[in-house]
Amino acid sequence: METKIYASWLSAHGYCEYKFYLQYVEGVEVPRTVEMQTGSEIHESKEEDFLKEAEPATLEEFLNSTKYTITKEVFLQTKFENNFLMGKVDEIGIDKEAIYIIEDKPRARAYDGVKNQIYAYCYLFKRNFSDKTPKPIYAILRDRDSNIEVWKEAFTLKNEFILQNNLNRIKKILKKEIDPIPTDNQKKCMACIMHKLNLCKHSLAR
Ligand code: SF4
Repeated sequence: METKIYASWLSAHGYCEYKFYLQYVEGVEVPRTVEMQTGSEIHESKEEDFLKEAEPATLEEFLNSTKYTITKEVFLQTKFENNFLMGKVDEIGIDKEAIYIIEDKPRARAYDGVKNQIYAYCYLFKRNFSDKTPKPIYAILRDRDSNIEVWKEAFTLKNEFILQNNLNRIKKILKKEIDPIPTDNQKKCMACIMHKLNLCKHSLAR
């Protein structure tokens, strides 16, 4: 059976595998917070501002840009083995030298899960367009509010391997072939909605 995996799940998976399991396998609904609602509104407003300024271009024109050019909110998907990986990239930049896959997050910190989410977007770009451009791909995390890049790394084969390992674990968790590992970080449990809802038997929070 085909499995759909969303790039954003890599971030949730990196926070805590057990939380990921509760949310995406057991179907526990996470209440929408004020912060999430504000985040969506800021996102939409930035996209509207972009669309006011943007000039239409073909894919070929974009991929052949030598001057720094961006596009936003790009939905990509690819099939790997018997699975679909998909996701919407916040921003893709391109210049003479390279491709820049950019994720905007509030209070951006380069946690492993966030890096894996951005690697997933890089992988999606590579799978869709590597035959059209040989430019190297960079993964970038940017602070949504300050617009400062807080992490930037080339998308290498080593990073692709790390991504594949995580995708494989996610696939096996979704199919209940392996047990999800709960975090050993008490601070994560203290901030976790599953702890607050009293739904986690592994919580380390007191
Ligand atoms: S309370 Fe801790 S162990 Fe449980 S799901 Fe949340 S982060 Fe994971």
